[in-house]
Amino acid sequence: MQVGIPREYAPRERRIAAVPSSIKAYVEWDWEVLVEHDAGAGAGFPDAELTDAGARIVPDTAAAHNADLVLRVGPPTIAEVNLIPEGGNLIAFLDPYVDLDLIGALADRCINAVAVEAIPRTSLAQAMDALSSQANVAGYAAVLLAADASPQLIPMLVTAAGTIPPSRALVLGVGVAGLQAIATARRLGAIVHAYDIRPETKEQVESLGAKFVEAPTLEMDEGGYAKEVDAETARKQQEILASYVADADLVITTAQIPGRPAPRLVTTDMVAGMHAGAVVVDMAASSGGNVEGTRPDEVVEVGGVSIIGPTDLPSRVPTDASRMYARNLQEIANRMRLDDGGAVVDLDDEVVGPATITHDGKVVHPRTREVMGLEKIEEETT
Ligand code: NAD
Repeated sequence: MQVGIPREYAPRERRIAAVPSSIKAYVEWDWEVLVEHDAGAGAGFPDAELTDAGARIVPDTAAAHNADLVLRVGPPTIAEVNLIPEGGNLIAFLDPYVDLDLIGALADRCINAVAVEAIPRTSLAQAMDALSSQANVAGYAAVLLAADASPQLIPMLVTAAGTIPPSRALVLGVGVAGLQAIATARRLGAIVHAYDIRPETKEQVESLGAKFVEAPTLEMDEGGYAKEVDAETARKQQEILASYVADADLVITTAQIPGRPAPRLVTTDMVAGMHAGAVVVDMAASSGGNVEGTRPDEVVEVGGVSIIGPTDLPSRVPTDASRMYARNLQEIANRMRLDDGGAVVDLDDEVVGPATITHDGKVVHPRTREVMGLEKIEEETT
């Protein structure tokens, strides 16, 4: 049984899908680990450290993809899909409801592909939840990015040269990333306000020492996610948020609705009400942005306000993002492990099954099938 760890070639990607601790686990399971040379360099894991853990360094990406199980961070390109043996297994972020050409290519090559985005968010699967582990790191990185771009100090300083007031931070969207953003901003000494459409977040916000902004809330859907709000609710949200946005030195927005464009929480008028030097970090930039005028991976200056739309936040803390992601993958791989030393993508497994997108040459994930315009697969009755 061979596990392949290719280097990630996507722009700004610095993470790696295996680290010494997960490599050691695979070796203990009698799996051979093939790592493309320099795959860990960007994350602070040089080849020597990975070989010490038991990996074998291979010279190119073809050799790292030529394995029974390929572990990646980002999705493979179509050319990389064709390097994975037919019938092989893959675990990675696959953007499975959007990148349909990739999903088609994986099915055509009979690759059993597990998308970490589709791992169920249940207590059983917590250790495998890569969306959460990476959102956690991203929330932290967003606050540091905002602090770095801000011309102000974050904490209150009482000095002989005068008293500096603390910065005021506003966090919009209090999921995993938002909670970490609040905690990080509080640790830096900011006064923090936060808001989410889900009412149960009020208590979480307050337990972190931040104040909850009393704008409209809505019960979540049956999956535990926020629902899209109607135009009237969105208008009310913006009306109440406007004065908090105007007062803020740092705004971090994280609001997302799975499979939908990000909700627009901050309008151009609201940005116009901010003071020069204020900084906005829009973590939803890749799904359309919470802030009007955001552009992915750019800094847009509007009247002295910087609007930053980073899409690579976990990669800005690549060592720990990789450690956490590698642990998520190790836990998933452990569920796939067979007694005879191999591994299988089992559609009946309650964690791996729902996250499997393609299997035995077919697209099997119901939501991916729906967006591809394919018929529903009938449940087998035995
Ligand atoms: P997400 O990235 O999908 O969204 C971020 C936040 O944006 C959410 O809190 C959402 O409520 C909020 N939001 C959406 N529309 C909004 C609007 N119009 N205005 C304000 N806020 C808005 O969220 P996530 O971090 O992936 O978490 C989603 C849910 O899953 C949460 O309920 C979280 O607690 C839950 N979760 C459960 C587990 C588990 O049980 N293992 C693990 C992780 C997350």
